[in-house]
Amino acid sequence: MRITFLIPPPIDGKIPERVSGCAYLLYYVPNIFLLSAAAVLEKEGYKIRYVESTVKKWDRKYFLNFLKEDLSDIYCFYAVNLSQKTDIQALRDIRDIRRDIPVIFFGPAPSDRPAEFVVDTNTYTVRGEPEHTMLELARALETKSSIEGIQSISFKNNNEIVHNTNREPIEDLDVLPFPARHLLEERDIYYNPKLGERPFTAVCTSRGCSYRCIYCVPSSLSFSRELEYKHHVARKPPVRKRSPEHIIEEFKLLKSQGYKAVNVQDDQFVWGEERTIKICEGIQDLGIVWGCSARSDHLNEAIVSAMASAHCKFIDLGVESFNQEILDYIKKDIDVRKNEEAIKLVKRYGISAKINIMFGASPMETSATIQKNMEEVKRLKVDQVMYNIANPFPGTEFYQIAKENKLFVYGDYRPVNVAKEANITYSHLSKTDLEKAVRRANFKFFLTPRFMLKNVRRLGSLDSLKAMLKKLF
Ligand code: SF4
Repeated sequence: MRITFLIPPPIDGKIPERVSGCAYLLYYVPNIFLLSAAAVLEKEGYKIRYVESTVKKWDRKYFLNFLKEDLSDIYCFYAVNLSQKTDIQALRDIRDIRRDIPVIFFGPAPSDRPAEFVVDTNTYTVRGEPEHTMLELARALETKSSIEGIQSISFKNNNEIVHNTNREPIEDLDVLPFPARHLLEERDIYYNPKLGERPFTAVCTSRGCSYRCIYCVPSSLSFSRELEYKHHVARKPPVRKRSPEHIIEEFKLLKSQGYKAVNVQDDQFVWGEERTIKICEGIQDLGIVWGCSARSDHLNEAIVSAMASAHCKFIDLGVESFNQEILDYIKKDIDVRKNEEAIKLVKRYGISAKINIMFGASPMETSATIQKNMEEVKRLKVDQVMYNIANPFPGTEFYQIAKENKLFVYGDYRPVNVAKEANITYSHLSKTDLEKAVRRANFKFFLTPRFMLKNVRRLGSLDSLKAMLKKLF
């Protein structure tokens, strides 16, 4: 049976980034979450193909011709909020050509709003973690057996949408095969400028995060997992971690396959000193450069030293704001001083401190707090900062707050590029104020001589830097 994972050409010209799931694409990132589900199916004997038409630069006409000639038995779409319209349009295109082919949607958007994807009796959504559910569904479709008992799927029965009961998150991540990276047809296109090496890939060592930040949109896989679990038991799913041995084995495999750079695609990589140091010691001789996200309060000298020795090149710290009241409001559960200490510690070990700052996540945000963030970034000589406008994503506590307090400009959530556009407005800080502020902040940071010089060196040319900045502004 042939199963094809599809990424269609975007209908509005903007390519959604599907791994983080909340922004448009700046550079191509391998979707290891999709490749993990693909690996499980492949291991069971299914013939898998991954057609990433955005990488292939297909236009709509080419995509339609592909659909006309293609002989797949099932199509799958990993859908995020920003890709929903494009993916639904692709479903319509498929239906114009093949009315009966099963189409499966998975990812955070179908996990949150399955009914919006299940448009006919041959369309299904897989909610939450996909691996086991996709396999059960594929087997049922292949053997034409009942799908009634398959947990975490939604489907249409006559005119009624059926949402089967929820599935518990996968307990032991070590049982999953490594992502099917060989399905990527052009592996050298994937890149992370913070690492600057190719071939580049991603590894996921844990799933989920135990903290409670009101705005949090974790990785698209964790978000799917959280949405499914929260609908079920009204709290976050437990964090699941792979064993250090299993992670080290994957890094060794990547080394043997020629990979030189890895992004650890966890919501938060540092879960305990012993585990982190064990992983670092196991991969340090491989010479692979890598980076990750970590909470400032999970770092200490021993951990950062081990990470530096293992060739960690950047740590993404979710600082969000340098104002304690704002951090408390957004339930970051961190002291503003801890963030400062972490930035200094990371830099001391030669690792780039990359921080995220979000404008407008709280009514305490003012032009003064925004200004203070920019001053702190300068004072601490942060290596890289990403300023965004807080966007209340469906499924988050921030979304409820925005609805109750009528913060949405258009009455509800809309997919927007958070590096440029605001979905919310306050009486003292309007949509336009937020958009101007984020533009000014990004402009100020990215156009400093220090940043330009460093990045021309890292990216290889002024043209590469210009291309990157063009996507931002
Ligand atoms: S610490 Fe990071 S990943 Fe965890 S809930 Fe907060 S924002 Fe999300």
